[in-house]
Amino acid sequence: MAVKEYFLPKSLAEAVGLLAQHGPSLLVMAGGTIAMPLINEGISLPEKVMGLRRAGLSYIDRRSDALAIGATTPLAQLVKQNAIPLLQTAARNAASMAVRNMGTVGGNIFAPPPAGDVAVALLALDAQVELAGPAGKRIVPLADFYTGFMTHQLNPNEILSEIQVPLPAGKTVYLKYGRKHANTPSVVAVAAQLVFNGPQVASARIALNGVGPHPLRARNAEATVIGATLAEAAIAAAAQAAADESEPFTDAVATESYRRKMTAVYVRRALTQLAGEEA
Ligand SMILES: Cc1cc2nc3c(=O)[nH]c(=O)nc-3n(C[C@H](O)[C@H](O)[C@H](O)COP(=O)(O)OP(=O)(O)OC[C@H]3O[C@@H](n4cnc5c(N)ncnc54)[C@H](O)[C@@H]3O)c2cc1C
Repeated sequence: MAVKEYFLPKSLAEAVGLLAQHGPSLLVMAGGTIAMPLINEGISLPEKVMGLRRAGLSYIDRRSDALAIGATTPLAQLVKQNAIPLLQTAARNAASMAVRNMGTVGGNIFAPPPAGDVAVALLALDAQVELAGPAGKRIVPLADFYTGFMTHQLNPNEILSEIQVPLPAGKTVYLKYGRKHANTPSVVAVAAQLVFNGPQVASARIALNGVGPHPLRARNAEATVIGATLAEAAIAAAAQAAADESEPFTDAVATESYRRKMTAVYVRRALTQLAGEEA
């Protein structure tokens, strides 16, 4: 079945109105790098599609101590503007330049693992998402947004309109391990933000991707390093905790057990890098 109707709203309000009018049978499309291949291959058969690219949701704005990123901001803009270095590194690690020019930051939040290279960095940065629906806007921490594999808190009548990112304090790190150096799906990706109080870790967020149904926080690993000096013993314990609490899967890229082993290796590398910077 071919797409019969295509809508290109000129504002968020118009987009929300169209969604209310047509219901969940209207497919929301941002950059289309995930949605279009599914349509072209006949896996997804929407009769109605709404493109968001003219809805005024492509921007990166500094708002006091936070960054507001419009949902349809292309991944390439995160690389170009470098408002937050962790996000720039994450975006550089996502796909190819051609896909980054089309693919959006909002779309990356919906990407099924092992995609989600930017989403995992947003999680480490404690980002929150703005969801717009007929009743107005609501804010949900990204840490609470995901509920399972390709399930989340977005209601069928809502659009993810903006991502809000607190400007990071402390040190950040992003490591992605894939089968190739570039343009490759993750075996595992690690993003972390640590704040130090002297030699001790005062706060920690360690996020993983490619090893769960969605980007996830390694909360046991975080608890292991908080209050500790980031030395060999704490790093090793955190790496093991992260591997233990990961929920890896087997796919064409890697087996479940390999993903778990590499989680320990890459959390260890990420924390060792931060310990080196802190010294
Ligand atoms: C060849 C190739 C390589 C890739 N490599 C990587 C990679 O290395 N790393 C990586 O992370 N990703 C990768 N991807 C996946 C994808 O390109 C990115 O995740 C991109 O950010 C998706 O954004 P999009 O705007 O194109 O999503 P779309 O295809 O437009 O949308 C994806 C889904 O999200 C929903 N959606 C999107 N935006 C919104 C919104 N604002 N509100 C509500 N629903 C929304 C859509 O309904 C759709 O179901 C790759 C894709 C391709 C084709």
